[in-house]
Amino acid sequence: MGMTETIDQQIKRCPACKTEIAVTADRCPNCQRDLRNWFLRHPFWVLFGLAALAFILYGMTV
Ligand SMILES: [Zn+2]
Repeated sequence: MGMTETIDQQIKRCPACKTEIAVTADRCPNCQRDLRNWFLRHPFWVLFGLAALAFILYGMTV
Protein backbone atom coordinates (compact mmCIF):
# COMPACT_ATOMS: atom_id res chain seq x y z
CA MET A 1 0.00 0.00 0.00
CA GLY A 2 2.51 2.63 -1.09
CA MET A 3 3.09 5.00 -3.93
CA THR A 4 3.97 2.14 -6.23
CA GLU A 5 3.88 3.21 -9.84
CA THR A 6 3.03 0.70 -12.49
CA ILE A 7 5.10 1.30 -15.57
CA ASP A 8 3.38 -1.45 -17.52
CA GLN A 9 1.07 -0.06 -20.13
CA GLN A 10 -2.50 -0.84 -19.23
CA ILE A 11 -4.20 -2.29 -22.26
CA LYS A 12 -7.71 -3.52 -22.84
CA ARG A 13 -9.53 -4.67 -25.94
CA CYS A 14 -12.45 -2.86 -27.44
CA PRO A 15 -15.48 -5.18 -27.07
CA ALA A 16 -16.74 -4.13 -30.46
CA CYS A 17 -13.74 -4.24 -32.78
CA LYS A 18 -11.11 -6.01 -30.59
CA THR A 19 -8.58 -3.22 -31.07
CA GLU A 20 -6.06 -2.86 -28.24
CA ILE A 21 -6.53 0.49 -26.50
CA ALA A 22 -5.46 2.16 -23.27
CA VAL A 23 -7.62 1.26 -20.26
CA THR A 24 -8.04 4.96 -19.58
CA ALA A 25 -9.55 5.62 -23.01
CA ASP A 26 -13.15 6.79 -22.90
CA ARG A 27 -13.73 5.99 -26.53
CA CYS A 28 -12.31 3.48 -28.96
CA PRO A 29 -10.08 5.33 -31.43
CA ASN A 30 -10.92 2.77 -34.10
CA CYS A 31 -14.70 2.39 -34.02
CA GLN A 32 -15.60 5.34 -31.71
CA ARG A 33 -17.49 3.07 -29.33
CA ASP A 34 -18.17 4.71 -25.96
CA LEU A 35 -16.21 2.63 -23.44
CA ARG A 36 -17.16 4.43 -20.24
CA ASN A 37 -19.19 2.39 -17.85
CA TRP A 38 -22.96 2.40 -17.85
CA PHE A 39 -23.25 4.68 -14.82
CA LEU A 40 -21.18 7.40 -16.43
CA ARG A 41 -23.17 7.18 -19.64
CA HIS A 42 -26.54 7.27 -17.89
CA PRO A 43 -26.26 9.75 -14.98
CA PHE A 44 -29.98 10.54 -15.19
CA TRP A 45 -31.04 6.94 -14.66
CA VAL A 46 -28.55 6.52 -11.81
CA LEU A 47 -29.98 9.54 -10.02
CA PHE A 48 -33.52 8.45 -10.85
CA GLY A 49 -32.84 4.97 -9.52
CA LEU A 50 -31.30 6.29 -6.32
CA ALA A 51 -34.22 8.65 -5.80
CA ALA A 52 -36.70 5.84 -6.40
CA LEU A 53 -34.80 3.59 -4.00
CA ALA A 54 -34.69 6.31 -1.34
CA PHE A 55 -38.43 6.87 -1.83
CA ILE A 56 -39.16 3.15 -1.43
CA LEU A 57 -36.96 2.85 1.67
CA TYR A 58 -38.53 5.96 3.15
CA GLY A 59 -41.98 4.54 2.49
CA MET A 60 -41.11 1.29 4.24
CA THR A 61 -39.79 2.96 7.38
CA VAL A 62 -42.74 5.30 7.89
ZN1 LIG B 1 -13.50 -0.38 -31.20
